[in-house]
Amino acid sequence: MDVDLKKDGIERCARIFNTQKYNVHDGPGVRTLIFFKGCPLRCKWCSNPEGLRSDCQVMMKKNACINCGLCVGVCPKKIHYMENGVHKINRDITCIGCRKCEKACLQNAIEIVGEDKTISEIMDIVREDKDFYLMSGGGLTVGGGECSNQAESLKSLLEASHMDGINTAIETCGYMSQKSLDLIKDHVDLFLFDIKQMDPVKHKYWTGVNNERILRNLAYLLENGHKVRVRMPILKGVNDSKEEIMAVVDFLEDYKCFKNFDGIDLLPYHRYGVGKYGQLDMEYPMDKEMEGEFGLSGEELDRIQKWIDEENIEVNLVRH
Ligand code: SF4
Ligand code: SF4
Repeated sequence: MDVDLKKDGIERCARIFNTQKYNVHDGPGVRTLIFFKGCPLRCKWCSNPEGLRSDCQVMMKKNACINCGLCVGVCPKKIHYMENGVHKINRDITCIGCRKCEKACLQNAIEIVGEDKTISEIMDIVREDKDFYLMSGGGLTVGGGECSNQAESLKSLLEASHMDGINTAIETCGYMSQKSLDLIKDHVDLFLFDIKQMDPVKHKYWTGVNNERILRNLAYLLENGHKVRVRMPILKGVNDSKEEIMAVVDFLEDYKCFKNFDGIDLLPYHRYGVGKYGQLDMEYPMDKEMEGEFGLSGEELDRIQKWIDEENIEVNLVRH
């Protein structure tokens, strides 16, 4: 069976913004992570702000810039410009990802995020660690952003991985159309599926979208035999109350005995991505929220874990 990597005679590409090898947190065994660019959600705590937009973007280490203007001269889109001798970026113009500015900058102040790679090129990266996958039961995990935003490319990559005998997992916010879900579902060995909040109003406030479609997709996968591990980002004052945790447990009540339900991962809040917001001229949304700490102590996390465990659901704390 041939894998459909071509469309209109051109090999299919995916726009990615990162790759990570030897990951042991996002699926079983040792894994290679591929991050697809673009996401329909805007979770205020997102630690990958460079994965939100689908277009290529300039990340600037402002402290490294000496305002020499070399990038200004090479940018075909006039995204870089000088104002009173100071280098600036026009974020309203779409970057075409040519990387001329990145190459021109002698200070290494510029990083372009977003690169279109063919499925074969991505598979070359994934295949490098095939021996580790075989030894550890690992494989490929595709995340983002939201990988289903590029559903055709995702399908091709997952298919190619299976053709190579490599296990597949995806990390997903679950906000995808039935058409996208149908396209990919049979090529995914494990769905790492987020539940961020059961209350639809709060969900919309914290992520920018309603959770109806997400919960419908989750139920569909569980009811149709697809292996799912639920993941819950946990933030103090956002979704850590007993009432909120039990609402998730209640939703999963009918499925917890299913063989294809793989338990829950708790993902404690962290601020690792904050620096990247500045490099993209973005504000970190959590800093605009009410006063307070969103991180939880070990004791608080243990308590949440116990609530879930007492309902006979396997629960695991993931620390990245
Ligand atoms: S990647 Fe190309 S289009 Fe984008 S900012 Fe740099 S030079 Fe301009
Ligand atoms: S080339 Fe580099 S150092 Fe010079 S203005 Fe552009 S970003 Fe700054």
